[in-house]
Amino acid sequence: MIKSKFIFITGGVCSSLGKGVTIAALGCLLESRGYTVALQKMDPYINIDPGTMSPYQHGEVFVTNDGAETDLDLGYYERFTSKEFSRKNSISTGQIYHSVIERERKGDYLGRTVQVVPHITNEIRNRIYLLGKEEEPDFILVEIGGTVGDIESIPFLEAIRQMRFEHGSSQVLFIHVTLVPTISVAGEAKTKPTQHSVKELLGFGIQPDVLVCRVRETLTKDLKSKLSLFCNVKEDCVISAVDIKDSIYEIPKMYKDEKLDEVVLRNLGMEIGKSNFNEWEKIIKKIKSAQKHITIAVVGKYISLQDAYRSIYESLSHGGISNDVKVDFLKINPEDLEKLNPKDILKNVHGILVPGGFGERGIEGKIIAINYARTKGIPFFGICLGMQCAVIEFARNVLGLKDAHSTEFVPNTKNPVISLLEEQADIDRMGGTMRLGTYPCIIKKNTLAFSEYKQEKINERHRHRFEFTLRYRDDLTKGGMTISGVSPDEKLVEIVEVHDHPWFVGVQYHPEFKSKPINPHPLFSGFIRAAVKFSIKGEK
Ligand code: GLN
Repeated sequence: MIKSKFIFITGGVCSSLGKGVTIAALGCLLESRGYTVALQKMDPYINIDPGTMSPYQHGEVFVTNDGAETDLDLGYYERFTSKEFSRKNSISTGQIYHSVIERERKGDYLGRTVQVVPHITNEIRNRIYLLGKEEEPDFILVEIGGTVGDIESIPFLEAIRQMRFEHGSSQVLFIHVTLVPTISVAGEAKTKPTQHSVKELLGFGIQPDVLVCRVRETLTKDLKSKLSLFCNVKEDCVISAVDIKDSIYEIPKMYKDEKLDEVVLRNLGMEIGKSNFNEWEKIIKKIKSAQKHITIAVVGKYISLQDAYRSIYESLSHGGISNDVKVDFLKINPEDLEKLNPKDILKNVHGILVPGGFGERGIEGKIIAINYARTKGIPFFGICLGMQCAVIEFARNVLGLKDAHSTEFVPNTKNPVISLLEEQADIDRMGGTMRLGTYPCIIKKNTLAFSEYKQEKINERHRHRFEFTLRYRDDLTKGGMTISGVSPDEKLVEIVEVHDHPWFVGVQYHPEFKSKPINPHPLFSGFIRAAVKFSIKGEK
């Protein structure tokens, strides 16, 4: 019998209300009261995972230690709590159906008709119970993706309804995140959409216990009692979630002030106890008191999308926290650098970051940005594809190998400084087949990477198919590129740097997946430190 308490979060009225951040913030608050948590995302789409989806469809793909390509909400879960999650924490309809159908083919259902209820709903429930069986956290918090009323999420709602029916209200809690819009002309907050959304939820047999209302200004007592009466939710369980201006990391504090954690604990019959929230208070103070602004250029082809480089922006802001500065982003489409004078675009930036990516569009623009950073002494941070482009730039412009390229873009280039990983050569299925997840890397002493990490062995998360081609290693090294991190067998180059430069680092992995506001990643802290220095000293 599982002892963990289950908290389910659903969303109503519309999407993008911040369910992911809400559940992450609640996880943070429960941890601050000494409880253990596990967080899980249920995505109602049929894809097995977002790994094969375009950033236009899905935003960033967040990679876990065990190499799962997951929803970017898992990034919030990790940044707001002390935990690191795995593939068990990111579930999709595709995965559920996939395993049910596989079992049906094996004959496991013994001649029965396989149906949504109970077979699909049981599979959903098993995935939730799995978290409780392995670690037995005090709380399992599950976010049901999508908006109540979507056809796709119905089996998930049915599964959690059954769980409440079986385990009762002392073990299962429902939180509904909803919108209370303000009609601008009348200046009035409107409760009707929330009433309808709760009614919709009731149609599936779910009565929410707590309402988290996204609202422009804190709900008045009148509005709370109206929502309480019409939605059948106790008045103190109606929580305001106002928009936060400065930083997303103020959200746990906002919910703490609204007593969301206390309401949850009380409803589930758990001791409220003392909250140890000092570390988060400190972070918020640091964010609010930072006076100096620095500008980091992020050069990527999806910069028009808020969420495509979510973990990169968050990690840069963590670097800002550790250096007491506010980091502003100049989002640059690399294709603009191909058309315009790079100086006009990059003249006021204090650091340039080229993030990961796939496909040829914008590659030459990224190389222009890297060349600009390298030759002008501007701090540069290249991540995955950004590192690969840095190697191409160096080979072309320092070694004079004009046709240096990656075989991802020009398969038969004469100088393939970046080429396919051997084990990737015969792969014909796209989903989940890259080099994914955590791998160790050995850092050479007396390098910039070592001075940032201050340790020889690190573990970082990967998501790529192509790599630095080893036969160019000696020439690049002689030309002034330092290979500062390699895989333990020395076959894979993980970190490159340029030593005749204030701060120029390219990494084959994704450090942005491991940075937390409480514990900023050393490379992001170092990059921002170098950018601050550059903002004082200027170009070389
Ligand atoms: N497209 C490159 C590769 O597959 C880089 C991947 C990335 O930046 N995540 O190796």
